[in-house]
Amino acid sequence: MNKKYHIAIVGGGPSAIFAAYELMQYNHNLRIILLEAGHDIYQRSCPIAEKKVNHCIGCKPCDIMRGFGGAGAFSDGKYNFTTEFGGWLQEYISDNDVLELINYVDKINLERGAPTEYFTTEKSNLGKKVLAQDIHLLQAKVRHLGTENNLRILEKLYEELKSQITLCCNSRVKQIQPHEGIFTLFVEGLGELDSIEADYVIAAPGRAGSEWFAGQCKELGLSLFNNQVDVGVRVEIPAEIFEHITEDVYEAKLVYRTKQYGDLVRTFCMNPKGYVVAENTDGIITVNGHSYRDEKKHSKNTNFALLVSNRFTEPFQEPHQYGKRIASFSNLLGGGVLVQRFGDLIKGRRTNEHRLSQSFTRPTLQAVPGDLSLVLPKRHLDNIIEMIYALDKIAPGMANDDTLLYGVEVKFYSSRLKLTKELETEIPNMFAIGDGAGVTRGLSQASASGVHVARVIHQRIVK
Ligand SMILES: Cc1cc2nc3c(=O)[nH]c(=O)nc-3n(C[C@H](O)[C@H](O)[C@H](O)COP(=O)(O)OP(=O)(O)OC[C@H]3O[C@@H](n4cnc5c(N)ncnc54)[C@H](O)[C@@H]3O)c2cc1C
Repeated sequence: MNKKYHIAIVGGGPSAIFAAYELMQYNHNLRIILLEAGHDIYQRSCPIAEKKVNHCIGCKPCDIMRGFGGAGAFSDGKYNFTTEFGGWLQEYISDNDVLELINYVDKINLERGAPTEYFTTEKSNLGKKVLAQDIHLLQAKVRHLGTENNLRILEKLYEELKSQITLCCNSRVKQIQPHEGIFTLFVEGLGELDSIEADYVIAAPGRAGSEWFAGQCKELGLSLFNNQVDVGVRVEIPAEIFEHITEDVYEAKLVYRTKQYGDLVRTFCMNPKGYVVAENTDGIITVNGHSYRDEKKHSKNTNFALLVSNRFTEPFQEPHQYGKRIASFSNLLGGGVLVQRFGDLIKGRRTNEHRLSQSFTRPTLQAVPGDLSLVLPKRHLDNIIEMIYALDKIAPGMANDDTLLYGVEVKFYSSRLKLTKELETEIPNMFAIGDGAGVTRGLSQASASGVHVARVIHQRIVK
């Protein structure tokens, strides 16, 4: 293995993969190394998904969050074509350019077997219907790859990258040290080498690496801005309740401003006939969801998150920690994810094993029955309850006693770095992309950010 590379990419999620993919297209004979802390795509497996255990046992690294393919590897790959959500890339480059990049990524997925059909809100009158209840539908087009296709496409990309660049999994970057235009990266897991050098660095550490990366940025004197943290629950209901919505647009991004506090609550990551899963971010267990395209693998339930955004002002600097502390309450009480029936929450009582066993809605994740009112701040809980009643008007049955609420779901958005429109940090030739840089929060924009930076580096090299 070489010690000196032209480009070092930190991370192996979609932003990193598409940066590497794009760089490979230019035939510069560049030496590129991609360093991923987690396992390669074939070695990733979650014991819960494989039904070896029924609760999160805190594997290190967590194969859901880390490894080639990144946090999205076991997701059902909902690629959204929009600048309305999924990140803030449009604050750096124009909306049209973001959409061009998203379409480009889509083409790459299609060439590797992504399903050709997509869902769109364009022709739906859902937006008009929900507006009558003061709920707002964000406009979008979405291609749903399905968990199995998403993984297959990642395997293909893994093989393609492996044949052209140095791809190192189980290799965690501990430190990035710039000196006179050269970057030294100290890496754990590279065998006899403990460091490599590179002319360019693309940092793509994702949410799982965001705490480490924020520390790095502070050490390097790079400016960081607070980003929001979204806290809420994952809702699970019988699929019929939302069928008229999910069969129309697949995923509805619905936003509602609560009357009580004037806060925004939104639906997020809708998984028709899907499964609720636990995820582990640096030892904190939170909840998420996914669904298969293959009908044989469908469950009877639909799940989605209901999230309340928190944006903090001075003097508080650590929204990440805020989200973590709330999640740690549910971990403390239940050893992981808690589940509560909506009816029990409203009656102010804990869901216990007995009440859960009586529920008509059967949970797809074996979580500990408990009381979310002991975990979530009152304001969040009130917001979520109000949103559930609002949704009940457009999807009757939503506020049934047996609606299951899993807690907590936290979307940690990394602190945002000060970046140029080329996504370059204040250190020349050091770029930051994807969720870990705080500029994206979804597959499409994360992948798009990787392609964007690869093109910027290409332009510099050809100059
Ligand atoms: C269960 C689940 C379902 C999801 N479903 C969807 C969906 O359907 N649609 C959607 O748009 N989004 C979805 N998302 C979000 C999406 O996966 C992320 O937005 C996307 O993966 C971000 O890409 P990224 O490359 O920025 O970071 P990530 O995918 O998080 O990848 C970062 C990688 O960097 C590695 N890393 C971190 N630090 C280091 C280090 N120091 N050294 C080496 N490697 C390091 C990590 O191990 C990780 O593999 C989902 C997420 C989860 C967890």
